[in-house]
Amino acid sequence: MKDIILTGDRPTGNLHLGHYVGSVLNRVKLQNQGGYEKFYIMIADTQALTDNAERVDRVKNNIIQVAIDYISAGIDTSKVNIFIQSLVPELFEMTSYFMNFVSVSRLQRNPTIKDEIKQRGFERTIPIGFLNYPVSQASDILAFGTTVVPVGEDQLPMIEQTREIVNSFNNIYKPKEEVFRLPKALLPEEQICRRLPGLDGKVKMSKSVGNAIYLCDDEKTIKEKVMSAYTDPDHIRVSDPGKIEGNIVFSYLDAFASDDDFKKYLPEYKNLEELKEHYKKGGLGDVKVKLFLNNILQELLAPIREKRRYLEEHINDIYELLFENSKKASTQAHIILDKMKDAMGLDYTKLLK
Ligand code: ATP
Ligand code: MG
Repeated sequence: MKDIILTGDRPTGNLHLGHYVGSVLNRVKLQNQGGYEKFYIMIADTQALTDNAERVDRVKNNIIQVAIDYISAGIDTSKVNIFIQSLVPELFEMTSYFMNFVSVSRLQRNPTIKDEIKQRGFERTIPIGFLNYPVSQASDILAFGTTVVPVGEDQLPMIEQTREIVNSFNNIYKPKEEVFRLPKALLPEEQICRRLPGLDGKVKMSKSVGNAIYLCDDEKTIKEKVMSAYTDPDHIRVSDPGKIEGNIVFSYLDAFASDDDFKKYLPEYKNLEELKEHYKKGGLGDVKVKLFLNNILQELLAPIREKRRYLEEHINDIYELLFENSKKASTQAHIILDKMKDAMGLDYTKLLK
């Protein structure tokens, strides 16, 4: 059987470089390779509301922003169905059944949820919806028969939870025919791209933390952010030896620099290894390394920004496409929801004599 691919993002802000290397690049690669049965990208508005209940406008307005980011970054809408989560009600019905297979303590042990609870100050009162989002995410994945989920590392516990739900479902209801396929995460090859750190050097780059370079940032903002990135606080004079570990500028170079970039922008070095060696020895200033990184990011982001300008003139067309796609996604999810209810013995029409 061919693969079905599904992935998504919360419309809590524009997409950033973490999304780009963590998931979007893999999506574009898969999309262009072909050979899959279906490819969905879900804009997870309902999930975004689980920690933004009072900020409905923020979530609502970012739906179109995220859609524009996808298309500007290379997603082809003739190959991929981009839809809006809340317009597929089947997902929420499925979640209601899945909630019976997962304990509160299991959700509290989820390492990503643990981190996010701390980050959001939810230690004393966690909204049930927020704690439950891994279960709701399992529905998003399973409702479409998904086999491959291109994501960053923070999503691995969610895929694990999804697989556990499939196993519980199969153990309890012992369906005669397969209802759910077991999904696999697809992570980027490069370790650094699986969890790109934020500009502050503390946690992963994230919309909710405000430590991100966005795909839509203008030239000046990108440069300002690059120049403010966390490096080695003990590397004070140019002559001082510098540390690479935890130095965000080098982390970003690991993710984005190629040997060609050296030829073009910093020909005195052959590659990143040489640059790192010099930095470690001393005699190489942060500004020079930052300006190099800035050149690379400007070259990457300028065409994405250009495409965005065009799409911003066609917002209605994009909304219409999202609504149309959501209807198609709903029809598709309904098929698996019906199979699930059948396997559970919830088909009440069979009671008619
Ligand atoms: P929020 O702060 O609202 O949770 P976010 O920046 O974490 O937003 P999500 O919408 O939660 O973004 O994540 C969408 C996808 O992007 C997921 O697959 C996630 O793994 C990936 N992703 C997000 N941030 C990073 C990052 N810094 N590095 C690699 N992948 C990332
Ligand atoms: Mg997140």
